[in-house]
Amino acid sequence: MFTWHWFAPSKPKKEEINYLQLISNLAQAANTIEILTVKCDTCGAQTTLEGNLVAKTCDFCDSPLIAGKGNTSIIEPASILTFKVTQNEGEAIFKSWIQKRWFAPNNLDKYVGQQGELRGIYLPYWAYGSNTVTHYKGQRGTNYYTQESYTDDKGESYSRTVTRTRWSPSNGTVRYLFENILTVATNSLPKKSLRKLEPWDLSALIPFEQRYLSDCKAAIYGVEIQPGFKNAQKIMQKEINYRIKRNIGGDHQRINSQDTNYNDIKFKHILLPIWLMTYRYHHKVYRFMINGSTGKAHGERPYSWIKITLIVLLLSAIGLGVTQAAPWANLFYNLLIINKLFVIKFSFLNLRRYRKLHMVCS
Ligand SMILES: [Zn+2]
Repeated sequence: MFTWHWFAPSKPKKEEINYLQLISNLAQAANTIEILTVKCDTCGAQTTLEGNLVAKTCDFCDSPLIAGKGNTSIIEPASILTFKVTQNEGEAIFKSWIQKRWFAPNNLDKYVGQQGELRGIYLPYWAYGSNTVTHYKGQRGTNYYTQESYTDDKGESYSRTVTRTRWSPSNGTVRYLFENILTVATNSLPKKSLRKLEPWDLSALIPFEQRYLSDCKAAIYGVEIQPGFKNAQKIMQKEINYRIKRNIGGDHQRINSQDTNYNDIKFKHILLPIWLMTYRYHHKVYRFMINGSTGKAHGERPYSWIKITLIVLLLSAIGLGVTQAAPWANLFYNLLIINKLFVIKFSFLNLRRYRKLHMVCS
């Protein structure tokens, strides 16, 4: 006698069937252009050429570009945001940034100055729009107050007001029209770093013309439209949740279930400008980026662990002078301060880990 074990096939999600297929159909119907590109064998980044020449090194990983050029078919960009920040202005932003890097190795600015080169490049993004209708089931929590008596340690009786919540069902529909939900369409740069360059001034987008790529390179999208739409759905979901909760009202809200219809889905391939510098320090690749439209900058940089160790020891010595009773507590406290001040996370396994600092250029 034995028991059968069987697995019911899991129900496919509605959106994966309908919307991703719909997006594929839209992509197939979109205009395409043939464009001359070169692909980096090391990181896979693919870019157009500047002046028909292949650069010596990859813009994204600084590896030598040995692959030949070839034609690639891409969905034609609909719009482009052109550079407002000039190369000279970008270099001034970089100089100011690198001079303010605390705990950077002493020779970093000279070292980067010798090998670093600020290169203008257009990055591919997908911009999605959809007219959404979401049916939801939830609960509205309304606070009410009751009096409660209690006895303190000394046996005295008191009364106090206690807040309680009464829950009632709340079902409904929210409608929201999403326009220009942006998702980056390249994996060649860290998404976290690119988010530091936001916001983009999308009101300044102009229709794309191929001549814009004659003086400046563009990266070719490596993220297709379907995964891009899934990323956009995550962004839309946050807004939908906010609107559902606002609709439910009351003092507290619970969302038990929701079902969104994405109507009139549309997408655009757009190109956004950045200045990018990729440099190596002790065989590790770091990148510095500027939003080519607003001048907002973000960079990765190495740390000098000698400098950090010295400052920790110095602060510990000060701490020891103040409270000799608990030297290790002081050392720990100082480490926490350093951590807070410089956004460095100490890893017990690998002290050479680094975190990225960012700055906003005014
Ligand atoms: Zn590369």
